[in-house]
Amino acid sequence: MTERELFYRYLGLPAFGPMALDIVKAEGVYLYDRGGKDYIDLVSGISVSNVGHRHPQVIEAIHKQLDAYLYVNVYGEFIHSPQVKLAEKLVSLLPSSLDSVYFVNSGTEAIEGAMKLAKRFTGRSGIIAFKNAYHGSTQGSLSILGNEKMKQAFRPLLPDVSFLEFNNFSDLEKITRHTACVVTETTQSEAGLIPPADGFMFQLRKRCNETGTLLVIDDVQMGFGRTGSFFSFEPYGIVPDILVLAKALGAGMPLGAFIAPKNIMESLAFNPELGHITTFGGHPVSCAAAIAGIDVLLGGQHPQAAEEKGKLIEGMLSEALQKGLISGIRRKGLALGIDLADVSKRKVFLDSCLDHGVLIDYYLFKPATFRIAPPLVISGKEINEGMGRLLKAMASTSTKT
Ligand code: PLP
Repeated sequence: MTERELFYRYLGLPAFGPMALDIVKAEGVYLYDRGGKDYIDLVSGISVSNVGHRHPQVIEAIHKQLDAYLYVNVYGEFIHSPQVKLAEKLVSLLPSSLDSVYFVNSGTEAIEGAMKLAKRFTGRSGIIAFKNAYHGSTQGSLSILGNEKMKQAFRPLLPDVSFLEFNNFSDLEKITRHTACVVTETTQSEAGLIPPADGFMFQLRKRCNETGTLLVIDDVQMGFGRTGSFFSFEPYGIVPDILVLAKALGAGMPLGAFIAPKNIMESLAFNPELGHITTFGGHPVSCAAAIAGIDVLLGGQHPQAAEEKGKLIEGMLSEALQKGLISGIRRKGLALGIDLADVSKRKVFLDSCLDHGVLIDYYLFKPATFRIAPPLVISGKEINEGMGRLLKAMASTSTKT
């Protein structure tokens, strides 16, 4: 069988009709398929490859760690140099209250850990999330997914979960002394990129303070410079009680984390002891890659440049907006949501992007809204090249049925 045949025959696949690109190499903002065709990456594997693919500093750090040790023991037993150095680095970038880092493997695991920590620390069971939110696919995270269609087949899920409307100020009154935590992104991604209304994050923080509820910020997709600040909550004058990270954290390696004040985090260590455990969490190679990834982002001032690069892309889309090829653009730093004017052309547009050698993706709850979220290290020249390809794909879509 060819590898393509093996892919369809032996892999459990989450959907029919995957892109099924046969990638043999990736470097910087380019991916190359078996036939030698290049694709410019305008989606970063959904905000993972913020430092691009195989960044030399990340590769060097991985090699160094490979030569020392791989897995040696379950998380939290041994002192791993990359783990402790990464924790120190993350804490140095955060407000002083967020000083204890629990490493896991993925975003959904970090969300699970954060929810357990909130329940354990507050002694409450209520969890509040927002409609149209996505926080992961395991059963706890699925319970706080704000889209009934995606979860109804898996009920019963967690009890005592309720949903508020994002940006609805009066809904915040539904947060009570029964609520252990509120989980939210600052900008809702899978809803098609919905930024918070002015003052919404501040009022949410205030209501959590009034009710003794922990505020969990999910920065899995919007963190690591994507929105123009290193962590997305920074511009809103708030500090979360628990911060959830993954995706770009590992700079291409699997890694997640939830971060909380030490006195809160400690409640996972007693009643019961081992309140949250993981075998592979904080893998030394992933942590080594993460340290290098953070250095690349900070050294190149890439978070600061995200706004400017995002604006450039937005400007390049204005003609398509005027011509009616797209009907709306939303943007937060270097994350954009573009609404296709003709929803029926969705599949034709995606195929046309691949034909033209450009990678984008759609938002989970808004299939006719497309995500542009290139690696933050993308250069002006590469933006011109990528957007040139994208605009050609868009123009050719309008002539096809
Ligand atoms: N939270 C957000 C905002 C996400 O976008 C995702 C994944 O797309 C997750 C959590 C879950 O992360 P993972 O796929 O690593 O479990």
